[in-house]
Amino acid sequence: MVIDGHNDLVLRRWRGEQARHVDLDAARDAGFAGGFFALYVPSPSPPGDPPDPPYAVPLAEPIDHEDAARVAGELYDVLCALPVRRATSVTDFAEGEITAIAHLEGAEAIAPDLSNLGDWYARGVRSIGVVWSRPNAFAEGVPFRFPGDPDTGPGLTEAGRALVRGCNELGILLDVSHLNERGFWDLAALTDRPLVATHSNAHALCASTRNLTDRQLDAIRDSGGVVGVNFAVSFLREDGLVRPADTGIDAIVRHVDYLVDRMGIDHVALGSDFDGAVIPAELGGVAGLPRLLAALSQRYDDAVAKISHENWLRVLAATWR
Ligand code: ZN
Repeated sequence: MVIDGHNDLVLRRWRGEQARHVDLDAARDAGFAGGFFALYVPSPSPPGDPPDPPYAVPLAEPIDHEDAARVAGELYDVLCALPVRRATSVTDFAEGEITAIAHLEGAEAIAPDLSNLGDWYARGVRSIGVVWSRPNAFAEGVPFRFPGDPDTGPGLTEAGRALVRGCNELGILLDVSHLNERGFWDLAALTDRPLVATHSNAHALCASTRNLTDRQLDAIRDSGGVVGVNFAVSFLREDGLVRPADTGIDAIVRHVDYLVDRMGIDHVALGSDFDGAVIPAELGGVAGLPRLLAALSQRYDDAVAKISHENWLRVLAATWR
């Protein structure tokens, strides 16, 4: 059974595109039990696939709250139309079923005064990424750079601090993936729940701004939190190149190994970025998950269950009410 930290199937369906990685029938056969389904409101001019390193893509422009709330509502309707369960409790996950956590990737759909946070909670949103890679009323995301450090800009705003407190009160998970380093430390100092990066990797192995430094990994460990390993080739490879044909499942295993060494096996999970990123051709998509689990089982035996789903369930149980 796999619970996964991030997929962009909803965006594909909203755009009327064919899914590249998440076929829901193949997913059931592969033991994919769901996880975080992103509601991502796209920027008007998307950055596209990163060029060959070194690169420094400018930070995406902010988007308007009213527009974002409308599009997020449409994305939410797409999610509700999928033949999957929706999770508001860890007991909603079951073997042989696909269960979706409604996750806002970037909090632009939340009013800066938080007046509609309760409405999104009532609809079933149980996870919010404070930012995508752009500024908003709450914080600032990292621009895509390689090589680059995640310390790229200012931390949480006053509204961002209020969002952390509001999510803590309601029991909404806060995701630090895409957040810059100052925002990360501001959130870490304020939140009373485990720190979670749904889809990020080790900066020590791949020097992308999207990856986490050793100090950040230590803080996530110390909070009882978890990192979902991202399958995006450009966040896995030491050279940052987008070369899916020459990037194997071993590149994912290398990041799992590093994170387990640094943080312990209780703090490492999967965060595929299926349908949102270029992934290793050897994995292919959701149907390749059993091959990844087989490779991980050779190293971790039965403890692979922690990485595949148990760590996510523990953190969700500690976060949700
Ligand atoms: Zn993302």
